[in-house]
Amino acid sequence: MNSRNSRKRGLWLILPVSLAACLAVLVYEQRPAQAPSPDTVIESLPVKKPAPEAVEFRMTDFENGWLRYSDGKTKVTNDGGAVWRDEASDLPVQTLSGGGAGGAAPVRGEWSLAPAEEPKPATILYEAKSYPVKQSQFLTDRIGWALLDSGSGLALPLLVTTDGGETWRGEVTADVREAVQAEKKREAQAAQEAALYETPEQARLAIRSKWTLLPDQAFVGDIVLVRHDKPGEVSWQGKTYKLQPFGSGYYTYLPISMQVKPGEYPIGGLTLTVKDKKFQTQYLQVSQQMESMRQDTDRIQADQKKIDAARSKSEPEFLFSSAFIQPIQGILTTPYGYTRYVNGKWDSSHTALDLAAKEGTPIKATNDGIVALADSLYLTGNAIYLDHGMGLFSQYAHLSELRVKTGDRVKKGDIIGLVGTTGFSTGPHLHFTFWAHNVPTNPNLFFDTMPFRWVRQAK
Ligand SMILES: [Zn+2]
Repeated sequence: MNSRNSRKRGLWLILPVSLAACLAVLVYEQRPAQAPSPDTVIESLPVKKPAPEAVEFRMTDFENGWLRYSDGKTKVTNDGGAVWRDEASDLPVQTLSGGGAGGAAPVRGEWSLAPAEEPKPATILYEAKSYPVKQSQFLTDRIGWALLDSGSGLALPLLVTTDGGETWRGEVTADVREAVQAEKKREAQAAQEAALYETPEQARLAIRSKWTLLPDQAFVGDIVLVRHDKPGEVSWQGKTYKLQPFGSGYYTYLPISMQVKPGEYPIGGLTLTVKDKKFQTQYLQVSQQMESMRQDTDRIQADQKKIDAARSKSEPEFLFSSAFIQPIQGILTTPYGYTRYVNGKWDSSHTALDLAAKEGTPIKATNDGIVALADSLYLTGNAIYLDHGMGLFSQYAHLSELRVKTGDRVKKGDIIGLVGTTGFSTGPHLHFTFWAHNVPTNPNLFFDTMPFRWVRQAK
C-alpha cells in the first residue's frame, strides 16, 4: 500500500498559439487542488477522471476504523489498518456518524491512554520528505495516524506512527501490530492500576502525569508512595530506590524516617514537603531482670540477621487490592512515635502501636501478603513479618501463639496468631507497625485506606 502513485502521470499540453511562433510546453501533475481551468485543456485530448481521493478517516479503536473517499465510498479495517476493504453493509451506522476530524473520542474503555492533549501535526516526515497533513488522530501518546493532504503521490496516503510521531510508516507491518498490541496491554494494565485509586479522577490524574507523590506533604515518620510514568530510580536520603512496574506506571515507597529533617525535597519533577511533628514522651519502668534482657547483644544480633534476611526480599508487586485493617481492637497504650525512656534513660522512638488486649485475642492479617518470617525471637517474642510487596512489611510482636509459618500466603483478616506477652513485654499486647525498605513507618496511615489513596495532605 505504499507503492508509488499510479495516478501520477504527466500531461503534455500545447497551448493555443496566440503569440507568433511561440510554443509553450507545460508539464504538471494531475492534482485536483490545482486542476487547470477547462479552457486551457485541449478538448480532444483524452482526460481521465481523477481517482477518488481519501478525504477523511477515523480509527474507532486499535482494530477498527473507516476511511471515506471523495466519491462517497468508504473503506473499513478490522485489523488496525493492515487491510482496508470496501465498506461492509453490516458496519454499524454510528461508527460512521461517530465523528470525523475533531469528532467524537475513540470508543474505548474508561482507562484508554488517549493523550490529554492530542498532537495535531501540520506536516509529517515520511521517507525523508515532508507532507502536509489533512487529518490526524492519536489513539495513545504513541500510536497515531495521519491522512496526508491530496497530492501526496502515495497510493494510500494514511500513515501510522508507533512512537508518538517521531517516525511514520506507510504500511501496518508485523512490528506495527506488535506495538499496537503492547499499547492495548498497557491500557488493560492502566485499568487494573486505576481500580486501586479512590476515585476515577484521581486515577486519571496520576496515570496521565509524569510524576505523582501520594501524598506530597507528610510528617517525619510517615511514608510516601511515588509513581512515575517511566522506569528509573528515585534518590532519597542517600539511598536509591528502583521504580518497579505496576499497571501502566512505575512505583516505589519512600520511607520518611524519624531522622529526616523537615523541609522541601525535590522528587522527580515535584516537591515533597516534610513537616515536623512533636511526639510525646513515655516513661516505662521495667524490672532489672527485663532490663538485663537487652544486654544480650549476641542473641539480639542473631535475631536481627533473621529479620534482615526476611525483609531483604519482597514481591515486586502490590499484593493487596483493598484497604488495610487494624489487626486487633485493643487499647492503645503507646502511640506511634512516642519518645520512650526506660527506667529513666532515653531509649528510642517507639515506631509502632502498642495495642493492649486479653491474652489469646486473635490477630488478623492487616492485608493480603506472604509470611516473610514467623519465628520466636528474643526481644519481640513470637513475631510475624508479612510481606505486602514492593518493600512493604507489617510486623506483629509478643504473640502467645503463631498460627502461620514462613512462606504462607495470607488473606486480609486471616487469623495469623494470638495476643501474648512474649519477649521484652510488660503485659499482653500487640506491638504492630509497618516497615518500608527497612525503615519503620506510621501504621495509622494505612488503616481503612491504602497507599494509592494517600492523596490528602498530612495533618
Ligand atoms: Zn511496642
